[in-house]
Amino acid sequence: MTTPKHGIVLGGGWAGMLAAHVLARHAETVTVIERDVLPDAPRHRKGSPQGRHVHVLWSSGARLIDGLLPGMVERLLKAGARKVNFHQDLVTLTSHGWQHRFPPRQYALMCTRPFLDWHVRDQILAGGRVTVRQRTEILDLVGDGTRISGVRVRDMDGGDTETLGADLVVDASGRGSRLRHWLSALDLPPVEEDVVDAGIAYSTRIYQAPPGATEGFPAINVAADHRVREPGRFGVVYPQEDGTWMVTLSCTRGAGLPTTEEEFLPYARTLRHPLVADLINGAEPLTPVAVSRVGANRRLYPERLERWPEGLVVVGDALAAFNPIYGHGMSAAARAATALDEQLALGVDEAGSARRVQRAISASVDDPWIMAASKDVEYVGCRMNAKDPRLTGGATARQRFSDLIADRAIRSSAVCDVVTDVISLTAPQSELASNRFLSLMHQDRMLPVLTAPPLTPDELSLVKLSPSSLAGVKGVPR
Ligand SMILES: Cc1cc2nc3c(=O)[nH]c(=O)nc-3n(C[C@H](O)[C@H](O)[C@H](O)COP(=O)(O)OP(=O)(O)OC[C@H]3O[C@@H](n4cnc5c(N)ncnc54)[C@H](O)[C@@H]3O)c2cc1C
Repeated sequence: MTTPKHGIVLGGGWAGMLAAHVLARHAETVTVIERDVLPDAPRHRKGSPQGRHVHVLWSSGARLIDGLLPGMVERLLKAGARKVNFHQDLVTLTSHGWQHRFPPRQYALMCTRPFLDWHVRDQILAGGRVTVRQRTEILDLVGDGTRISGVRVRDMDGGDTETLGADLVVDASGRGSRLRHWLSALDLPPVEEDVVDAGIAYSTRIYQAPPGATEGFPAINVAADHRVREPGRFGVVYPQEDGTWMVTLSCTRGAGLPTTEEEFLPYARTLRHPLVADLINGAEPLTPVAVSRVGANRRLYPERLERWPEGLVVVGDALAAFNPIYGHGMSAAARAATALDEQLALGVDEAGSARRVQRAISASVDDPWIMAASKDVEYVGCRMNAKDPRLTGGATARQRFSDLIADRAIRSSAVCDVVTDVISLTAPQSELASNRFLSLMHQDRMLPVLTAPPLTPDELSLVKLSPSSLAGVKGVPR
């Protein structure tokens, strides 16, 4: 691989725009190929259907984005994104009970996806170093098993096909990437793939929040309990940039999903606690129900191929996509973009450079992968076609340990801090096996079990609820 003069990025979504931004620091020209017309304002588009559902950007991802695009977090906050401090600004019923609201450690940015995508894309394109070819479809890779030299594309309006040359092609075409197919057409052996599919589905509606409630009322999260060996149901009420609540109800395989306006509220009542239903009961719905059934964990292992062609790397959901409930996809893509930047800075002139770059990018997605996949295998009805030894052996012992951590984290501030660092991808997953953490698990003081959501009287009055209305609890320890 030679130092890239011209880089091509396949896909102008979140991962593609970040990859294009870092590539532009190293290559003379960068072209993004995108099927959609990318909106010039925060608007939905066809190629990003997940944009209708709740998204959080964890603090680790936000910090990386701010490093790549200085001032971006402040820009998002000024424009209305909510900064939700964990666990001070979040009331959450975990699998093991209500989480105490400990002082902040990490945070998540909450806002709509079109808003987030547009701000990031706008700042990248304002730099003037990235060109987007819109309404252009990627057909296949050009080159052979030793080197990729470009990509064949089709103009979606005129129908003309064309070959575009590049020294480096970055596949960021998302979950639907045809990379495996493209590589096998070049006579390369199949890229190994692991899939862990708990059958996650999302159903989302936006509501007008009561005045002041997107600032003065916490984000709400009611999770399933995998230990009951029933399909899981989840619900969140998350504040958005425009004074609305985005309400997402989700489930694992077999739990059904509300797909109509009539079904939405009754379904919310079937969660382990009625808080989500009580909040939306009095709120004005602003949108119909949007449904998505895209939530399997899927990971490719390109770095394991005996021969990996020069001039090609893969990032974002095309490389590894996760159950969205953990909120890791965008932060993982930010990690990949940072790894790409670092690797390009090291130079890519030597033979085997593309494999080295890919190895670094692949390493950056390992923590979110194992976190999501190892949790999802615990859900009843989860389908697995994976060889990762961490998923195929020692399940009972692993589950017992993660249950122990979950039980401690809701009642111990020190344990919760470490777990929040790991969940937010700020600290490595290996931190949970460190001596420091194991001794915290045994020594730290535990607060009593909470029997009701930890909401203050002021918060309750903001949404016109009373403590007594929150009494009905299913499957939560009293
Ligand atoms: C329901 C849901 C909720 C989620 N919630 C969160 C969350 O809370 N936090 C979080 O961090 N992540 C979340 N994610 C994950 C997050 O949305 C993805 O990780 C992220 O969008 C991946 O970006 P990407 O650029 O890799 O892929 P995509 O966003 O899918 O972008 C791929 C792009 O490639 C284009 N493209 C594809 N094929 C072609 C082609 N042949 N020709 C031309 N263009 C093409 C598409 O139009 C698209 O623009 C969620 C995902 C889902 C499904």
